[in-house]
Amino acid sequence: MLNLSRRKFVTSAALAAAFGLDTRLGISPVFAQKIADPQPGFHKYKVGDIEVTALYDGIWEKPHDPAFIANASVEDVKAAMVKAGLPADFVSIPFTVVVVKNGGKTILCDSGTGGQVQPTAGKLAANMKTAGIDPAKIDTILISHFHPDHIFGLMEKDTNKPVYPNAEIIVSDVEYKFWTDPAVIDRLPEARKGLARRIQSVFPNWKNIKQVSGEPEVAPGIRFVSAPGHTPGHRAFHLASGAGQLMISNDTAYVPALVVANPGWRGQYDQDGATAEASRRTLLDRVIADKIMICGYHFPFPGGGTIAKDGTGYALTVMKT
Ligand SMILES: [Zn+2]
Repeated sequence: MLNLSRRKFVTSAALAAAFGLDTRLGISPVFAQKIADPQPGFHKYKVGDIEVTALYDGIWEKPHDPAFIANASVEDVKAAMVKAGLPADFVSIPFTVVVVKNGGKTILCDSGTGGQVQPTAGKLAANMKTAGIDPAKIDTILISHFHPDHIFGLMEKDTNKPVYPNAEIIVSDVEYKFWTDPAVIDRLPEARKGLARRIQSVFPNWKNIKQVSGEPEVAPGIRFVSAPGHTPGHRAFHLASGAGQLMISNDTAYVPALVVANPGWRGQYDQDGATAEASRRTLLDRVIADKIMICGYHFPFPGGGTIAKDGTGYALTVMKT
């Protein structure tokens, strides 16, 4: 046992060293983070005249699991990670929240993990402070979908108290109705039943949630874009300022090393794989045709970049910090 875990540690450390990464991180053998967090944990950039701030919430260094991608082997997944310049011994799933300041409003795009999803995530509040953003001054929160890493940042751990009681929280009506239907609990897989129960015990009591249909303008310069499949009401957010545009893709192409490069791969977290793939291809094709920037909630920090066609798939070029 000792030899095995020791060898595992050396392998990870050697791998990180090969990528020029700092390995002097956590001590816990279970939760030791292998890749250092970006410093600083925020990055500001412009889209047209609008200021966008990417805020790092943390990372899930997900152990390989043959079930993660239904139609690709662990070896295929490892090769895809390496091709994207990432370590092969786990799947890198960072969490990055975007703040947009426009039209006198401060808009938060999804809410982070709230420190309730992975032990190596929950750094949003600290990075928001460092970036000079006051959480009490957030006017609007756009929610892409109701998975834990996107909504748990709205609710305090244990008490479920609202973290942003004064902000307007805008959600897709399709997503809201799906998760708050009492009958959904019986239909969901075991791993998602607790999530639905928590949503049903919290959201209907909050007065500051607004449901919207279709693809309206939901904040100054930002429209919802229907991108279902990952969840029934999943939305991307399209931001426009003059000639500048950014497609905030959320989880449409959640781990780009895997599903941007291989858009036909079917991920475990896509509730409806075929619909998710169709939404992914539509969104990526639109970003290419319109020559606009894209960012993603689980893209390598700071999450922004551009997309190009690459053989049978697509390639993401990540912006420099
Ligand atoms: Zn997600």
